[in-house]
Amino acid sequence: MAKYIFVTGGVTSSLGKGIIAASLAKLLQSRGLKVTIQKFDPYINVDPGTLNPYEHGECYVTEDGAETDLDLGHYERFLSTFTTQANNVTTGRIYQTVINKEREGAYLGKTVQVVPHITDEIKRRMLLLGQSGDYDIVITEIGGTVGDIESLPFIEAVRQLQWEMEDEDFLVVHLTLIPYLKAAKELKTKPTQHSVKLMSENGVHPDIIVCRTERSLTAELRKKIALFCNVKTEAVIEAMDASSIYEVPLKMLQEGLDTIVLKKLHINGYSAPQLGKWKEFLDKVKNPVSKVNIGLIGKYIELQDAYKSILEAFVHAGAVNRCKVNIVNIHSEFITDANVHEKLGGLDGLLVAPGFGIRGVEGKIIAVKFARENRLPFFGICLGMQMAVIEFARNVLGLSDAHSTEMDVNTTNPVIDLMEGQKKITAKGGTMRLGSYPCEIKENSLAHAVYGTTEITERHRHRWEFNNSYLPQFENAGMLASGKNPATGLVEIVELKDHPFFIGVQYHPELKSTVENPQPVFTAFIKASKEFSEKKNLSNPVLQSEMIQTV
Ligand code: GLN
Repeated sequence: MAKYIFVTGGVTSSLGKGIIAASLAKLLQSRGLKVTIQKFDPYINVDPGTLNPYEHGECYVTEDGAETDLDLGHYERFLSTFTTQANNVTTGRIYQTVINKEREGAYLGKTVQVVPHITDEIKRRMLLLGQSGDYDIVITEIGGTVGDIESLPFIEAVRQLQWEMEDEDFLVVHLTLIPYLKAAKELKTKPTQHSVKLMSENGVHPDIIVCRTERSLTAELRKKIALFCNVKTEAVIEAMDASSIYEVPLKMLQEGLDTIVLKKLHINGYSAPQLGKWKEFLDKVKNPVSKVNIGLIGKYIELQDAYKSILEAFVHAGAVNRCKVNIVNIHSEFITDANVHEKLGGLDGLLVAPGFGIRGVEGKIIAVKFARENRLPFFGICLGMQMAVIEFARNVLGLSDAHSTEMDVNTTNPVIDLMEGQKKITAKGGTMRLGSYPCEIKENSLAHAVYGTTEITERHRHRWEFNNSYLPQFENAGMLASGKNPATGLVEIVELKDHPFFIGVQYHPELKSTVENPQPVFTAFIKASKEFSEKKNLSNPVLQSEMIQTV
């Protein structure tokens, strides 16, 4: 039987519940326990797949093709285990299930209500992963902040589970903020007291209070929080701002978060935490011996969360290369032929990001051209790969109106076209080509050197694809399809023959990069960028330093 930990948040949003949940999971995993994390989100969308990245950050796709919250990315990056559709549940999905059942007649004669029908469905899903027999511990993060109208049914479900379960099978961690008032020179506990009081009014009593704070908590303050929040003093955990999210598990270890959890859940016979690899990784992140400037060309660059997995994959790849990856965010909408040299001249590598719609695509195409012509390491992901194909068609094959039918339905050269299976689909939710598919890699290609194997699987999220009727033309001119789906022939990887490092992938490699398994394309791209930078330095050290300053 699995034991259950619930993580709630108080006072304000954006306190980092996902990181705290993932850090706790990491510590428990490092002691030999089998742990998974799930997230329950209180919004009405069935999943975040149709949300604009400006609203909700990146949409994280799991192996089984679920479009989920970006916190699932943190869970996978920390634990190096896969999550599934079952790991992310929204209010929308709960209601959809209950309403479908009502239509089928499952509740004949009954009034369908929030309590018990909605809360029963929430509880059923909260327990689902634990009942699989695969886990010792299931951590459930409840999205939103306690006190929000929309999270009430989730808190009520937690209350009922608290009542139904044995004490040693159930635990609530409440994450809260201890603000520092400059004028008073004091950390303030009142918001935390209120938030715990609110929880208590809803019948849920936190066992552990994790306090986000900019300043260290004194013993006296810890005692005060403990007293007013009705927990033991040792259960007041300080979570100071960290320089890297990957430091948080070690900070939580120092604070004894995992020991309190193990004690409260009556778990015995666990090992000491095995965090050697994690510490090694962190050491490399903190002590790089070189640095590269990577241009991230996208249109959501104002919001860092929109490219979360890409940014984290760079941290992992940087560590492998002992290299600080300095990301230079460049808005694709503002790149023109006239300013491209000025904007991209100081870079050591270029990544063209995924995306949808026409806004900013011409800038992306200009950026690809710059990387191709200047032998700058290039990495295109999904839409970024499609832009590389269009650029090659226009500027090398001479098909001047080449485009994707996503942007121009009337182009006479649709080098990127809607997938056959997508042509009849009109609904937007969960209908893209999603999740993990195999890819067969050609031997003696860059992709083969990168992966070191001919068979891989990667995750997808797209509707358009390389138009295979153009493939002979591309290959004759030097752009190769070095990876294809073995069943359909869909082009998964393109690369340039005569370029030091130029690769575009239809899939999203960033989704599978974890601390323990950094993603090979990212690792190889950073290595190539490092080499590019070293060469540039050798040939013109003065120019190099000037270029970096212009970035
Ligand atoms: N818009 C493109 C497609 O649907 C690319 C999608 C993406 O970059 N994730 O094929």
